[in-house]
Amino acid sequence: MSHNPILVGPLNYAYDESPDLRAPSGRGIFGWCDTTRQAILAEQNMYPARKLACRWHETLHAVANDYGIRLSEQTVATLAMVITQILRDNPEMRGADESVFSIIPIIEEVQKNQGKEVKQNGTDPGADDSS
Ligand SMILES: [Zn+2]
Repeated sequence: MSHNPILVGPLNYAYDESPDLRAPSGRGIFGWCDTTRQAILAEQNMYPARKLACRWHETLHAVANDYGIRLSEQTVATLAMVITQILRDNPEMRGADESVFSIIPIIEEVQKNQGKEVKQNGTDPGADDSS
């Protein structure tokens, strides 16, 4: 099964799942972030919520690396669980409604106000319906 890449700033991280995931040392692990190869791997056989937390965990490692932020393993682990919980308990925080990210209303507001003079007293020219 192919998965969408995880976008971290300007970088695409390939995301894949694998059964019996192991670190190079041979130790069994939940996930792995390879910042050099821009790849995130997760253990395939985790329950979905843990897999989601794992994806966040590895993505936070990518963010820390790519943005030069020092995050301890404990901080990454905690943030991954907290983000997963917040997204589970607050569906409106998921940003699934693409209109949240739309700049069209902003463009329309600018176009509506184009040609209107800004009043000297600083009131919003858009609030004036007389023009
Ligand atoms: Zn980690």
